[in-house]
Amino acid sequence: MKSIPKQAQVVIIGGGVIGCSVAYHLTRLGWKDVVLLERKELTCGTTWHAAGLVGQLRATKNMTKLAQYTSELYATLEEETGQATGFKQNGSISVAPDVERFEELKGEPRWPNVLAWKSR
Ligand SMILES: Cc1cc2nc3c(=O)[nH]c(=O)nc-3n(C[C@H](O)[C@H](O)[C@H](O)COP(=O)(O)OP(=O)(O)OC[C@H]3O[C@@H](n4cnc5c(N)ncnc54)[C@H](O)[C@@H]3O)c2cc1C
Repeated sequence: MKSIPKQAQVVIIGGGVIGCSVAYHLTRLGWKDVVLLERKELTCGTTWHAAGLVGQLRATKNMTKLAQYTSELYATLEEETGQATGFKQNGSISVAPDVERFEELKGEPRWPNVLAWKSR
Protein backbone atom coordinates (compact mmCIF):
# COMPACT_ATOMS: atom_id res chain seq x y z
CA MET A 1 0.00 0.00 0.00
CA LYS A 2 1.20 3.52 -0.79
CA SER A 3 2.14 5.52 2.28
CA ILE A 4 -0.44 8.06 3.38
CA PRO A 5 0.62 11.71 3.17
CA LYS A 6 0.91 13.44 6.53
CA GLN A 7 -1.10 16.40 5.29
CA ALA A 8 -3.17 17.48 2.30
CA GLN A 9 -5.26 20.41 1.22
CA VAL A 10 -8.33 18.18 1.10
CA VAL A 11 -8.88 14.82 2.75
CA ILE A 12 -11.97 12.90 1.69
CA ILE A 13 -13.08 10.08 3.97
CA GLY A 14 -14.78 7.22 2.16
CA GLY A 15 -14.30 5.90 -1.36
CA GLY A 16 -17.90 5.34 -2.34
CA VAL A 17 -19.48 7.08 -5.31
CA ILE A 18 -19.78 10.33 -3.36
CA GLY A 19 -16.16 10.43 -2.15
CA CYS A 20 -14.86 9.41 -5.59
CA SER A 21 -17.07 12.02 -7.24
CA VAL A 22 -15.84 14.77 -4.90
CA ALA A 23 -12.21 13.76 -5.61
CA TYR A 24 -12.84 13.61 -9.36
CA HIS A 25 -14.54 17.00 -9.51
CA LEU A 26 -12.00 18.76 -7.27
CA THR A 27 -9.10 17.51 -9.39
CA ARG A 28 -10.98 18.47 -12.53
CA LEU A 29 -11.26 21.97 -11.09
CA GLY A 30 -7.48 21.98 -10.74
CA TRP A 31 -6.98 20.93 -7.11
CA LYS A 32 -3.86 18.77 -6.94
CA ASP A 33 -3.41 18.03 -3.26
CA VAL A 34 -6.43 15.78 -2.75
CA VAL A 35 -6.29 12.57 -0.72
CA LEU A 36 -9.10 10.03 -0.61
CA LEU A 37 -9.04 7.61 2.32
CA GLU A 38 -10.97 4.34 2.07
CA ARG A 39 -10.94 1.93 5.00
CA LYS A 40 -11.42 -1.22 2.85
CA GLU A 41 -11.70 -1.14 -0.96
CA LEU A 42 -12.96 1.58 -3.25
CA THR A 43 -16.75 1.33 -3.76
CA CYS A 44 -17.06 -1.60 -1.31
CA GLY A 45 -19.87 0.10 0.67
CA THR A 46 -23.41 0.88 -0.41
CA THR A 47 -22.08 1.81 -3.84
CA TRP A 48 -21.18 -1.83 -4.45
CA HIS A 49 -24.87 -2.79 -4.07
CA ALA A 50 -26.29 -0.14 -6.40
CA ALA A 51 -28.00 -1.26 -9.59
CA GLY A 52 -26.41 1.65 -11.45
CA LEU A 53 -29.69 3.20 -12.52
CA VAL A 54 -29.54 6.91 -13.27
CA GLY A 55 -33.23 7.78 -13.57
CA GLN A 56 -33.59 11.02 -15.48
CA LEU A 57 -36.85 12.41 -14.18
CA ARG A 58 -36.52 13.36 -10.53
CA ALA A 59 -38.76 15.13 -8.06
CA THR A 60 -37.18 18.55 -8.50
CA LYS A 61 -35.66 20.54 -11.33
CA ASN A 62 -32.20 20.58 -9.73
CA MET A 63 -32.21 16.81 -9.10
CA THR A 64 -33.27 16.30 -12.71
CA LYS A 65 -30.44 18.53 -13.93
CA LEU A 66 -28.00 16.59 -11.74
CA ALA A 67 -29.21 13.26 -13.16
CA GLN A 68 -28.82 14.64 -16.67
CA TYR A 69 -25.29 15.83 -15.91
CA THR A 70 -24.45 12.45 -14.35
CA SER A 71 -25.56 10.38 -17.31
CA GLU A 72 -23.63 12.65 -19.68
CA LEU A 73 -20.54 12.30 -17.48
CA TYR A 74 -20.82 8.50 -17.19
CA ALA A 75 -21.12 8.25 -20.97
CA THR A 76 -17.73 9.95 -21.43
CA LEU A 77 -15.77 8.71 -18.38
CA GLU A 78 -14.21 5.72 -20.11
CA GLU A 79 -12.93 7.88 -22.96
CA GLU A 80 -11.57 10.43 -20.49
CA THR A 81 -9.99 8.07 -17.94
CA GLY A 82 -9.48 4.75 -19.73
CA GLN A 83 -11.47 3.15 -16.91
CA ALA A 84 -14.40 1.07 -18.20
CA THR A 85 -17.67 1.79 -16.42
CA GLY A 86 -20.06 -0.57 -18.21
CA PHE A 87 -22.56 2.27 -18.37
CA LYS A 88 -25.36 1.66 -20.87
CA GLN A 89 -28.09 4.11 -21.71
CA ASN A 90 -31.47 2.42 -21.91
CA GLY A 91 -34.97 3.71 -21.44
CA SER A 92 -37.13 2.84 -18.47
CA ILE A 93 -40.78 2.24 -17.71
CA SER A 94 -42.48 3.33 -14.50
CA VAL A 95 -45.06 0.81 -13.37
CA ALA A 96 -47.84 1.92 -11.05
CA PRO A 97 -48.87 -0.99 -8.79
CA ASP A 98 -51.91 0.89 -7.50
CA VAL A 99 -54.14 3.88 -8.22
CA GLU A 100 -52.28 6.12 -5.75
CA ARG A 101 -48.96 5.57 -7.50
CA PHE A 102 -50.64 6.05 -10.88
CA GLU A 103 -51.98 9.42 -9.74
CA GLU A 104 -48.52 10.30 -8.40
CA LEU A 105 -46.88 9.42 -11.71
CA LYS A 106 -49.45 11.42 -13.66
CA GLY A 107 -48.74 14.42 -11.43
CA GLU A 108 -44.96 14.30 -11.81
CA PRO A 109 -43.57 17.46 -13.35
CA ARG A 110 -42.66 17.32 -16.98
CA TRP A 111 -39.08 18.51 -16.56
CA PRO A 112 -38.09 17.33 -20.05
CA ASN A 113 -40.21 20.11 -21.46
CA VAL A 114 -38.81 22.63 -18.99
CA LEU A 115 -35.20 21.59 -19.55
CA ALA A 116 -35.36 20.77 -23.25
CA TRP A 117 -34.27 17.27 -22.22
CA LYS A 118 -32.95 15.02 -24.98
CA SER A 119 -33.91 11.36 -24.97
CA ARG A 120 -31.56 8.87 -26.61
C1 LIG B 1 -29.56 -2.43 -3.18
C2 LIG B 1 -29.29 -0.99 -3.56
C3 LIG B 1 -29.48 -0.57 -4.87
C4 LIG B 1 -29.24 0.75 -5.22
N1 LIG B 1 -29.41 1.13 -6.53
C5 LIG B 1 -29.16 2.41 -6.89
C6 LIG B 1 -29.30 2.82 -8.24
O1 LIG B 1 -29.63 2.03 -9.12
N2 LIG B 1 -29.05 4.11 -8.56
C7 LIG B 1 -28.66 5.03 -7.61
O2 LIG B 1 -28.45 6.20 -7.95
N3 LIG B 1 -28.50 4.67 -6.30
C8 LIG B 1 -28.75 3.39 -5.94
N4 LIG B 1 -28.60 3.03 -4.63
C9 LIG B 1 -28.17 4.04 -3.68
C10 LIG B 1 -26.66 4.23 -3.81
O3 LIG B 1 -26.01 2.98 -3.80
C11 LIG B 1 -26.13 5.09 -2.64
O4 LIG B 1 -26.86 6.28 -2.54
C12 LIG B 1 -24.67 5.44 -2.85
O5 LIG B 1 -23.90 4.30 -3.18
C13 LIG B 1 -24.10 6.05 -1.57
O6 LIG B 1 -22.75 6.34 -1.82
P1 LIG B 1 -21.82 6.90 -0.68
O7 LIG B 1 -20.50 7.22 -1.33
O8 LIG B 1 -22.53 7.98 0.06
O9 LIG B 1 -21.70 5.71 0.38
P2 LIG B 1 -20.88 4.33 0.30
O10 LIG B 1 -20.86 3.71 -1.06
O11 LIG B 1 -21.39 3.47 1.41
O12 LIG B 1 -19.40 4.78 0.59
C14 LIG B 1 -18.92 5.06 1.88
C15 LIG B 1 -17.49 4.54 1.94
O13 LIG B 1 -16.88 5.07 3.11
C16 LIG B 1 -16.04 4.07 3.63
N5 LIG B 1 -15.81 4.44 5.02
C17 LIG B 1 -16.72 4.49 6.03
N6 LIG B 1 -16.14 4.91 7.16
C18 LIG B 1 -14.85 5.14 6.84
C19 LIG B 1 -13.73 5.60 7.62
N7 LIG B 1 -13.84 5.90 8.91
N8 LIG B 1 -12.54 5.73 6.98
C20 LIG B 1 -12.40 5.43 5.65
N9 LIG B 1 -13.43 5.00 4.88
C21 LIG B 1 -14.63 4.86 5.49
C22 LIG B 1 -16.80 2.78 3.41
O14 LIG B 1 -15.93 1.64 3.44
C23 LIG B 1 -17.41 3.02 2.03
O15 LIG B 1 -16.60 2.53 0.98
C24 LIG B 1 -28.81 1.69 -4.25
C25 LIG B 1 -28.60 1.25 -2.93
C26 LIG B 1 -28.82 -0.06 -2.60
C27 LIG B 1 -28.57 -0.51 -1.17
